[in-house]
Amino acid sequence: MHTLNRSRHDVVIVGGRVAGSATAMLLARLGHDVVAVDQASFPSDTVSTHSIARSGVVQLRRWGLLDAVLASGAPAIRQVTFHALGESVSRTIRPKAGVDLVVAPRRYVLDTILAAAAQQAGADMRHGVTVAGVQRDRYGRVAGIFGHDRAGTPVELRGRYVIGADGLRSLVARSAGAAISQTRPAGGATQYAYYAGIPWNGIEFFIAERSLAGVFPTHGTQACVWICTPSADAKATRRRAGSRAEAFGALLERSAPLLAERLRGARRTSPVQGVLRQPNQVRQAFGPGWALVGDAGYYRDAVTGYGISDAFRDAELLAVALDQAHGAGKSEETAALACYQEQRDQALREVFEITCRLGAYPPVPAFTALQKQLSAAIDAEAAALASRPVPGERLLATG
Ligand SMILES: Cc1cc2nc3c(=O)[nH]c(=O)nc-3n(C[C@H](O)[C@H](O)[C@H](O)COP(=O)(O)OP(=O)(O)OC[C@H]3O[C@@H](n4cnc5c(N)ncnc54)[C@H](O)[C@@H]3O)c2cc1C
Repeated sequence: MHTLNRSRHDVVIVGGRVAGSATAMLLARLGHDVVAVDQASFPSDTVSTHSIARSGVVQLRRWGLLDAVLASGAPAIRQVTFHALGESVSRTIRPKAGVDLVVAPRRYVLDTILAAAAQQAGADMRHGVTVAGVQRDRYGRVAGIFGHDRAGTPVELRGRYVIGADGLRSLVARSAGAAISQTRPAGGATQYAYYAGIPWNGIEFFIAERSLAGVFPTHGTQACVWICTPSADAKATRRRAGSRAEAFGALLERSAPLLAERLRGARRTSPVQGVLRQPNQVRQAFGPGWALVGDAGYYRDAVTGYGISDAFRDAELLAVALDQAHGAGKSEETAALACYQEQRDQALREVFEITCRLGAYPPVPAFTALQKQLSAAIDAEAAALASRPVPGERLLATG
């Protein structure tokens, strides 16, 4: 017979990866009693490539985690090369917003560093707990979650706020009835695999008709090699091929023959993974007793490789809003969370628009022009984040 595992907290977070752990860490640093649960055990991987854009690196630096990420063996990347229309252009990453590098740590490493930082800040991080639904109080306000741990022991966590950091298919969003406030056509596929045995020169992008392929150097001299295409192309290639790996090779051969040629001297060290369809959508960010962060609240095609940076930005916006809302009256609470939604929607607008346009795969010159716009938008966001006060920094310094 299992006994009930029940406790009460300021904030209960469902999902403990880049969005959930970052939010838990910041709230704990601000002095709140936070519990975060994830059905996965850590360290564990998730389906995602993992280049962190300048704005995301700025967040890691501000939060004091960049050194740990680099110490994990993820190489500091200081060169970016674009290959398009028979030309290759390399540039060195210039110092801006306090960083002169990007980095592509494996998710099982990055997510574990974030979860450990949250735990160190005082958050209660519980892995192997699956949430089955949300609880409401007698006024209909979301007031907690229920689920079970791996042994089948029921878990009930009550909180003033329940945060859905539980990804695209967010149970919290569905249970709370979060409306989809913006939706755009979903048409993109992203597939990837890891390769070893040849040298990598920084991040590379290969732009071709109806595709963007690339290389993200990561731990242990390996690289994540990936390709984004319209879903229809990925599915048609898969139908013609004998296996996922053969289809991946055929797509690379067609879209990035230079890269495919180099990979003939390399060794594939993983199966081919990825997603064949990605929605582009924004959800309502909050309601009575609940809020969403990360992919749960905003999902976009991986063609811009920006979801981790989005999650870091929104984790901080939400942590600051919850800190203001905590202990305040109902109208101040609503105002603080409405401010979170407004800031998130404002911040995501430009990159979301560029992502949707890139995901429609316009001809190469237009695609390349959009990539330049993306770079400028990321630099602007990095500068804006770098100028913000760091949540909990004063408490950390005095603690
Ligand atoms: C193919 C692909 C490539 C990508 N490449 C990049 C890239 O290069 N750079 C980049 O910045 N972004 C990239 N992204 C986007 C990035 O992966 C996501 O934006 C990011 O993972 C979102 O993090 P999250 O914490 O919001 O959600 P997730 O990473 O989805 O984590 C959600 C967590 O919630 C947990 N969970 C869900 N339901 C429950 C439940 N009921 N109970 C308990 N736990 C639950 C899950 O176990 C999971 O650990 C890519 C995405 C894809 C699909």
